[in-house]
Amino acid sequence: STMPPLLAAIATAGRHGVLVKSAEVMEQLGTITAVALDKTGTLTRGRPALTAVHVVDGRWDADAALAAAAAAEHSSEHPLARAIVAAARDRGLDLPPAAAFTARPGHGVRATVGGRVIEAGRPGEHPPDPVREIEDDGGTAVVVRADGFPVAVLAVHDALRPGAAGTVAALAARTPTPPVLLTGDNPRAAWRTADAVGIDDVHAGLLPADKVAAIERHRSNGDRVLVVGDGVNDAPALAAADVGAAMGQGGADLTLGAADVVVVRDDLTTLPALLDLAHRARRVVI
Ligand code: ADP
Ligand code: MG
Repeated sequence: STMPPLLAAIATAGRHGVLVKSAEVMEQLGTITAVALDKTGTLTRGRPALTAVHVVDGRWDADAALAAAAAAEHSSEHPLARAIVAAARDRGLDLPPAAAFTARPGHGVRATVGGRVIEAGRPGEHPPDPVREIEDDGGTAVVVRADGFPVAVLAVHDALRPGAAGTVAALAARTPTPPVLLTGDNPRAAWRTADAVGIDDVHAGLLPADKVAAIERHRSNGDRVLVVGDGVNDAPALAAADVGAAMGQGGADLTLGAADVVVVRDDLTTLPALLDLAHRARRVVI
């Protein structure tokens, strides 16, 4: 065809379910030297499921703690929140009304439920049992607190995406700097995932601003970084990247937002082919 090569490459990517914002983005994709991947929703399916409810002491029973956590999580779009709300519904629990909802990105949520301040989120400095066991098992522990005191620990597990290990190997073969894992999740769950997909460079326990700092560190070392994350929680990291790619969440969010690339088909395995396509288009241009 007579179409310019970068635009032809964008059209080809589109046919494979990958939306590329502009010719400039396609050109930058051809110069990427490092890929940084988020864990939850990127290397994993992003559809975690609740696997256990552990009460901390006898004051709250498991159903009451799960119902309160689900009520507090109800307005959150985080995959962990969806898992907790779905589990409460599956058990036929009535969700009490929640007021004064606040989400703290990278931490969790807080709301007033039944006259108490209910928090659900990251374990923090003095984790109650069995947080460590859950994390050693590759899970994420969500601690439920009432008026500041832990009342339950929820175990949530998220399966790897199909083809994740093969995709990481294929990306590693295409970039001089080995792939990097960036996650807000705990180091034990992060290393479980990293070992399963073959990543040796792991940054765990990161707040959204820490992800940005890690990307900027790579960029100041001369890397041109492709960041792959989910569009909602990882917006600052995607914006800090040379190219930010968002995994489409089941086709619901077709807007680009902070992303330069959206993997609309939500299939991680398209990324190595996208880099090849960008390389070829660049060679034609130059
Ligand atoms: P990731 O980088 O793995 O996508 P996030 O930055 O979204 O993780 O969240 C980091 C951590 O903060 C989570 O592992 C969890 O411990 C906690 N967290 C964030 N949002 C929530 C929420 N809505 N409910 C419970 N915990 C949360
Ligand atoms: Mg995420």
